[in-house]
Amino acid sequence: MTDLQVFRDETRQWLEQNCPPSMRSPINSDGSQCWGGRNAVFSSDEQKLWMERMAAKGWTAPTWPIEYGGGGLDKAQAKVLREEMGNLNARSPLDSFGVWMIGPALLKFGSEALKQQHLPPIVRGEIRWCQGYSEPNAGSDLAGLQTKAADMGDHFIVNGQKVWTSYGDKADWMFCLVRTDPEAKKQSGISLVLFDMTTPGVTPKPIKLISGSSPFCETFLDDVRVETNQVVGEINQGWTIAKYLLTHEREMIGGFGLTDAGSQSLAEYAVDALGITQGRLANTLLRSDVIRWEIDAAAFAMTAERVTDEVKSGQGVGATSAMLKYYGTELNKRRYEIMMKLHGNDAMEWASGASNEGWLPRTWLRTKGNSIEGGTSEIQLNIIAKNILGLG
Ligand SMILES: Cc1cc2nc3c(=O)[nH]c(=O)nc-3n(C[C@H](O)[C@H](O)[C@H](O)COP(=O)(O)OP(=O)(O)OC[C@H]3O[C@@H](n4cnc5c(N)ncnc54)[C@H](O)[C@@H]3O)c2cc1C
Repeated sequence: MTDLQVFRDETRQWLEQNCPPSMRSPINSDGSQCWGGRNAVFSSDEQKLWMERMAAKGWTAPTWPIEYGGGGLDKAQAKVLREEMGNLNARSPLDSFGVWMIGPALLKFGSEALKQQHLPPIVRGEIRWCQGYSEPNAGSDLAGLQTKAADMGDHFIVNGQKVWTSYGDKADWMFCLVRTDPEAKKQSGISLVLFDMTTPGVTPKPIKLISGSSPFCETFLDDVRVETNQVVGEINQGWTIAKYLLTHEREMIGGFGLTDAGSQSLAEYAVDALGITQGRLANTLLRSDVIRWEIDAAAFAMTAERVTDEVKSGQGVGATSAMLKYYGTELNKRRYEIMMKLHGNDAMEWASGASNEGWLPRTWLRTKGNSIEGGTSEIQLNIIAKNILGLG
């Protein structure tokens, strides 16, 4: 047996023994995701246990170095872990902006002290992060951001406003883009800073959405003190780090096209939803929608895998993350359209125990934001045209 086969056998065995039964089903309600954090709300004791067991192995951040609490797996082993979790229908033990976004940026650009301070609590699910990028007049044109950080020697004083801060009211820390040199050309005077959301002057105010929930906030920053040692990388060099972090965010959001509804395929979902025990889906139009989606998803999975291999062989993910983000989000939106169609009028059930408090229509509405968050589809198409196709 090769080393990888041994690893696969051991992983399968470990997951079989340690993944609690209730964590082996697709996510189907708002509370089924595990976000961790100081004020973590677990849907069950088993969810907490699952996060803690995976965190103890470093498998909430499988490829991060062991010295920072990660699993120390190489890409091939991480893929095996994903596959074995998929075979068991195992849920993600921890959904985390720390793991998806600021962690990779710290690993590449952070000082040793920042890595030691922030990475292990992220792996353990102890600290929940939010992203302070967008502002009322700086979304697609992110480099136009106006939040200012005045240099006071050993600390900065930050003033400004962020918007669309996902889970700003639930997060413990923010990674935040600020302007540290107001005189410099747009991109040149930006820094990435980190601060605790309980710092005086930080006020997140939830915004209510079409789905009825308030997953994001306006965040007001009034004379917020940020220690100089909480700047990631060099002062005024934050734009490079911000862009690197965005490639990880886009890769993650693009991945929703494959994994957002848990590991159940759309065809399996259709069979369950319609209670089909034999034969096939009678509505031919709907059947072809499901099949077409499955084929496109399979092709997308192969493309995503190719990109992962390219990254492994040293070609950075860079602009390809725009491609994954664009296509993955379209795929995810289409999947939920089909899921809604499968349920007919019942899909609009909004507030009942049987519908898990309208989980499906609320999630369907939420997917509309996929092609906006992390940079809109139009911006991704601009990047693809310029940096991949070499047009203009
Ligand atoms: C669900 C969700 C979660 C989010 N979470 C966060 C978060 O946690 N933290 C955070 O900082 N931000 C977050 N955002 C904000 C998100 O990053 C911005 O909404 C996004 O970058 C677009 O910016 P904007 O809303 O200001 O739109 P604008 O930039 O004003 O764009 C408006 C329209 O114009 C188009 N447009 C703009 N410029 C161009 C161009 N050059 N070429 C072609 N078309 C163009 C856009 O595609 C869009 O259709 C979130 C957004 C959503 C929807």
